[in-house]
Amino acid sequence: MNQRLVLFAKYIVTMDRPQPIEDGFVLIQDSRVLQVGKREDFYFVPSLRMLDLGETVLLPGLINAHCHLDFTAFKGKVKYQGGFREWLRQMGMIGRATTSVEFKKSIEKGIKESLAYGTTTICDVASSWESYALLLKSALRSVVFFELIDMAQPSTAQYWKNFQTRLKSVLRLNPPTDTCGWGLSPHTPFTVSKELLQLAKHYLSDHRNISTTIHVAESREESRYFKKGSGPMADRIKVLNPIWTIPHGTTPVQYLSQNGWMPKLDLGVHLNEVNQRDLKSLAKNRTAVVHCPGSHAYFGHKKFPYAQMKKQRIPVCLGTDSLASNQSLSLFREMRLFKKNYPAVSFEEVLSLATVKPAQALGRGDELGKVKPGYLADLIGIPAPKSQRLKRNLYDYVVNYKKPVCFSMINGKPQLQLAVSKR
Ligand SMILES: [Zn+2]
Repeated sequence: MNQRLVLFAKYIVTMDRPQPIEDGFVLIQDSRVLQVGKREDFYFVPSLRMLDLGETVLLPGLINAHCHLDFTAFKGKVKYQGGFREWLRQMGMIGRATTSVEFKKSIEKGIKESLAYGTTTICDVASSWESYALLLKSALRSVVFFELIDMAQPSTAQYWKNFQTRLKSVLRLNPPTDTCGWGLSPHTPFTVSKELLQLAKHYLSDHRNISTTIHVAESREESRYFKKGSGPMADRIKVLNPIWTIPHGTTPVQYLSQNGWMPKLDLGVHLNEVNQRDLKSLAKNRTAVVHCPGSHAYFGHKKFPYAQMKKQRIPVCLGTDSLASNQSLSLFREMRLFKKNYPAVSFEEVLSLATVKPAQALGRGDELGKVKPGYLADLIGIPAPKSQRLKRNLYDYVVNYKKPVCFSMINGKPQLQLAVSKR
């Protein structure tokens, strides 16, 4: 049976129209938006549920394009002391010592925090794979990227065989749904072997429409490894896997390109260390880039080349990364940090990095990231501003909003509604 619901709100930031709507309504049928407009233009429809959100700014739900829910409970557990490889090694140690129950608790905490801060879609890289079943049951819309990493494996062929067996069994037990899909995430170009990149690439050729994400060109150490075949990363790999082929004279992006991966890569994460050729390759392959401002600041990486990417029309979106290298899973905070680093970028454009842009990067720009007829009803609400200045500058207000949201709806279902003053 068709369920119709109308939401009224003081302001609606649609990300579709140039100006926010004052005193607006959103008519929803089942999981999708049917109509958006001014309250005065709304005609009553029989058997309709109504929800007046009062002094609220309604906007599209935020999309976190990169997260590791597994590591929510790792906040403050690994200290970064200037060595990225060393940080990764310690993360691996803690990860191996974490039980399945502990991972589940960590993921649940992350889901709760994400919902509270207005995330409605999350791209989660799953190391433990526990997040898949939990996200499937949760309200969040999600893409769970099962992680591939064979750096310390004695046999890549056996690892890949086991990976596929596990994948089949997980998907048989919990088939994907309308709100929870899955993808593949080779961890990085330096922790996944050439052989595994080839196996995964062939798998993707046989299984179309599977999304992919990889951490690429994040740190100076990674750049050095690919350019000179030396440094802490090379030293560590020589210990773990003496027969590993260490690259030389290339960049992480070019290395992926040489291995035929660039046309397969949907979401490249980080891309702090890129040259002109890398940027051209990203643009040519329409690879979207996920920038994680909080995690970027934590590691003190080289300035993220936003202007150069924009010039090349490379879509950029925001992610939180994990709490092992960030303080919060709030995309509002990521937007604020981004704006601080790139003050010339408009507030509206900053908001698009957590709404419209990631929706496009996920190949869902025609149904996510906007409040628009035909789009999925993934909406959030925050209390409307009181000052006249902010009422005139709603994008500024939204980007600088610091508290949990007061309303959230995913797939047409309200998830959270805190008291807001009525008109
Ligand atoms: Zn990450």
